Amino acid sequence: MNRPAPLNRRTFVKTTCMAGAAAGIGNARLSWPLLRAAEEPALAPPKPSWVDRPMRWAQLTLVEDDPGKFDLAFWLDYFRRTRSDAVCLSAGGCVAYYPTQVPFHHRSQWLGDRDVFGELVAGCRKLGMVVIARTDPHATYNDVHQAHPDWIAVDAEGRPRRHWASPEMWITCALGPYNFEFMTEVKKEIMSRYRVDAIFINRWDGSGICFCEHCRRNFREANGLELPLSNNPQDPARRAYILWRQQRLFDLWRLWDGEVRKINPDSCVIPNTGGGATSSLDMKRIGELAPTLIADRQARRGLAPPWMNGKNGKEFRAAMGRKPIVGIFSVGLEEPYRWKDSVQSEAEIRLWVADGVANGLRPWFTKFSGVLHDERWLKPVEALYRRYAQWEKYLRHERPLARVGLEDAPRIINGARRVEVAATLIPSYPDLPMEKVYPRVPKTDIPQVYPRESGRSRIVYFPWDIDRTFLEVLCADHLKLLRNAVAWATNEDPLITVSGPGVLDVTVWQQRDSLTVHLVNLTNPMMMKGPVRELIPIGEQQVRLRLPEGARPRRVRLLAADQRPHVQRIGSYLHATVPSILDHEIVVIEL
Ligand SMILES: [Zn+2]
Repeated sequence: MNRPAPLNRRTFVKTTCMAGAAAGIGNARLSWPLLRAAEEPALAPPKPSWVDRPMRWAQLTLVEDDPGKFDLAFWLDYFRRTRSDAVCLSAGGCVAYYPTQVPFHHRSQWLGDRDVFGELVAGCRKLGMVVIARTDPHATYNDVHQAHPDWIAVDAEGRPRRHWASPEMWITCALGPYNFEFMTEVKKEIMSRYRVDAIFINRWDGSGICFCEHCRRNFREANGLELPLSNNPQDPARRAYILWRQQRLFDLWRLWDGEVRKINPDSCVIPNTGGGATSSLDMKRIGELAPTLIADRQARRGLAPPWMNGKNGKEFRAAMGRKPIVGIFSVGLEEPYRWKDSVQSEAEIRLWVADGVANGLRPWFTKFSGVLHDERWLKPVEALYRRYAQWEKYLRHERPLARVGLEDAPRIINGARRVEVAATLIPSYPDLPMEKVYPRVPKTDIPQVYPRESGRSRIVYFPWDIDRTFLEVLCADHLKLLRNAVAWATNEDPLITVSGPGVLDVTVWQQRDSLTVHLVNLTNPMMMKGPVRELIPIGEQQVRLRLPEGARPRRVRLLAADQRPHVQRIGSYLHATVPSILDHEIVVIEL
């Protein structure tokens, strides 16, 4: 295996304009990390009939002392006012909010003889909502630890693990009988009692590696190895663990899914799969297994830019295709300090959600605690949801028009390979003392960009971390190189061009009877470090859209501005003028 040598960060890349040059990767055998589980993908289970219906999700995550304290009628009214058409409600796992009969399933100490979950389910059903039950199996109590010590996660030194945030509790083992047996019983009970549309499972995939007797034995039997003590992916035991853990979790997923479908065939489980590309599980397999998925990236933190929600949507879309994907957003801050009862600024919530919606995520607001300590989020979320309800017809996408793969690239007639900027390597040299700062080799012929055509495909390979470096230093030349590479690889006139001041996230979708261009205005002094404090409108934008073949535009509208823009049709291009954008404008082309 030829591994491209990592470049020193001071290595320079000499860029030159080059036309007609050809370079290939034919002699470099690239080996991509294979993190797929060993088995063949199973046939996908059938899709429950309701999965494509909900467009606006609500989540009420109860805390243990909510029963008896929180105002149930208020929440039902809020779901109605927000025109939420689906809801995720706390049912069980860590705390049961209904009179469970499963041994060791901990009833809320404030539950009394009530069935809070059942009351909420009944109320939401009256509103015509899709209802799914939330379970969270990651933590448990002393009685479980005493009766079933083997259900508790164990650290590398053999000690059972206390919960890091609630030390009176214990962390459970995700890959042993706690999940495979106990939580299966909990799910069966919830499904039998309430026939919910699905069961959502939070924190189901463990809290780090577990060294309990089951994990050690099962891993040894599967791989003939001891559990790894390091995170080094070069360690064969670590590599085997990554695959084995993944296999155990997919087995668990299928077990739970099969058991709830035996009770309610029109249901499924929805394990929380977190943040797309950062998932530790194979998203391709998940895309095959799941009829719908919830992208859990609730807000930005640290130096996350505001388009990260949309990026998450793109990642889930890549795994899920046309299946409905939902994006959880938090009404609070999501910084590492996890102030779970905090409330985020309205502008930040609007921008974050808009970018997700523009990228095909159906919104899902989440609120922890039925008792509200700060009500400032209620009105903004209500306004946002009512807006999306009004626009619903234009948010029911059939497909994105942006091409992700290269498969549609037409062959160009003369077949010349051409890239605007090619690059060659200049080896690294010292940065101090100043007298030593000179290139030892002025120029090499080691290419740093490999453009290649293969059949109808075009591929550009960078044997260096241009994307990561660009994010770190924001060098304009890296941007040029990336942009030209994308332009060359897509090999066509861009589908959409937007000219005007500011920074926009732009997506194009097709619905049954319309095309939509989403323009999310990210221009803000707080763009690169949230939260945004106010939304700042940008001026006129000229939109040029290449119409799909056969498309006959009837009428063009701006949804947020609620007006008809100035429009011109030139050949297969449609030009529209958008006078201004506050946070989110949608240009609708009715077909
Ligand atoms: Zn374990």
